[in-house]
Amino acid sequence: MKTLEQFSQEINKCVLCGTCRSVCPTFGVVQREPASARGKVALCSAFLHNEISLSEGFIKQMNECVQCMACHKACPNDVNVPDIILAARAEIAKEKGLPLAKSFILKNILDSERIMPIAMKFISKLQGLLFKGVPEESGLHRRFPLPLIDERRVVPPLAEKFFLEVRSQGPASAGFKQGSEVRSKKNTLQPRVGFFAGCLINYMLPNIGEASLKVLEKAGASVIAPLDQLCCGMPALGMGDVETAKSLALKNLEVFEQYELDYITTACSTCGDGLKRRFKELLSDEGDDIQKRVEIFAGKVRDITELLVNELEFKDLNAPISDSGLLTPNSIVTYHDPCHLRRGQGIADEPRELIEMSGAKLKEMEHPCRCCGLGGSFNITNYEFSMAINRSKAEDIKNTGADIVATACPGCMIQIKDGLHQLGADTKVVHVIELLAFHLASPLTGED
Ligand code: SF4
Ligand code: SF4
Repeated sequence: MKTLEQFSQEINKCVLCGTCRSVCPTFGVVQREPASARGKVALCSAFLHNEISLSEGFIKQMNECVQCMACHKACPNDVNVPDIILAARAEIAKEKGLPLAKSFILKNILDSERIMPIAMKFISKLQGLLFKGVPEESGLHRRFPLPLIDERRVVPPLAEKFFLEVRSQGPASAGFKQGSEVRSKKNTLQPRVGFFAGCLINYMLPNIGEASLKVLEKAGASVIAPLDQLCCGMPALGMGDVETAKSLALKNLEVFEQYELDYITTACSTCGDGLKRRFKELLSDEGDDIQKRVEIFAGKVRDITELLVNELEFKDLNAPISDSGLLTPNSIVTYHDPCHLRRGQGIADEPRELIEMSGAKLKEMEHPCRCCGLGGSFNITNYEFSMAINRSKAEDIKNTGADIVATACPGCMIQIKDGLHQLGADTKVVHVIELLAFHLASPLTGED
């Protein structure tokens, strides 16, 4: 990863034109220069010229960014503001250290394939004590004041059975490393696809993982979901903990390398952007051998919508479109472009194609690629701010009159659901893959 110092030249390319300011969602809410992309570049420049220190004010401004990449895409001089901000966060973490609790969680829980599931299971047992169900939603509200949990927030419940835990109870898989799972009939002609679940699908939304396997199988893939995969490391990177992000990248690389995979796919846009792009950056100074291996790994990564449309050439569900339930031929679906899919990976048409394949009518919202305001841990540490950004997104969705809003990122789903709940809108929030899986009633086949 480049350090802030190594971004000096790029920072110098900024001509203060302000194009980025007009698209920056944090500036949109605060309307003050330091909150804008241009303001943050100016602060980093001042720090590098020893004009300011790593003061509380500087740290606050660097943390108030949702990493939406809108500034970078708009900049006429190709100044990568979000990466400059990440480098500044890494500098802050290196110089000041992370708060103890954050550091403990990142280094001892997130970065452990053994402790993370145990910790999540422990929390899932406690959630009934700490939270109560929101009547009309499949979410939870806190019962009493809790640190970092706003009373208005709709928290998604932890799953009773985690996605990778469910997988471990599936049929045995001969011919593969113990602990892995092969969900499809063995057929050497089928493309071999490794499924990267990511934390949100694994612990909170295992139904998206199930739907993904179902659709991939229908599209003719042989799917492997390694049980010892870990967090993609993007939450650690976002907080400036480059070492933990690097460690997770290396461990995941080793896990997926054990199978002769044609593709590695995920239904989480943030994980996908991380696996495709960030792993290479994180491991760039780890020597030639690792660099070659991570190049091969990253070259196989596809978002699930991209894999289905462009590689597996999935054109037809070949299943009856039901006229009741979640989706009918009259259902109107609007689509939210996740920042890490549209701007991070350049994928916009594929999810829309799949929505139309599901039999729904697609109705675009006014600003489909406007950020939902999640921004990783930004939503936890700056809840009010995050929801202020989300407000426009929720209004855009409501204004379409759609029955369903689909997206391709579990993080966006959670954020949008909270925003719609606070707006009093009853639009259903789903992953694009769920729209397809809804029509596929047949259970997964397992092995012959
Ligand atoms: S758009 Fe680019 S050049 Fe213009 S102010 Fe923003 S970062 Fe600087
Ligand atoms: S990444 Fe988004 S929130 Fe951050 S500075 Fe750029 S436009 Fe603003």
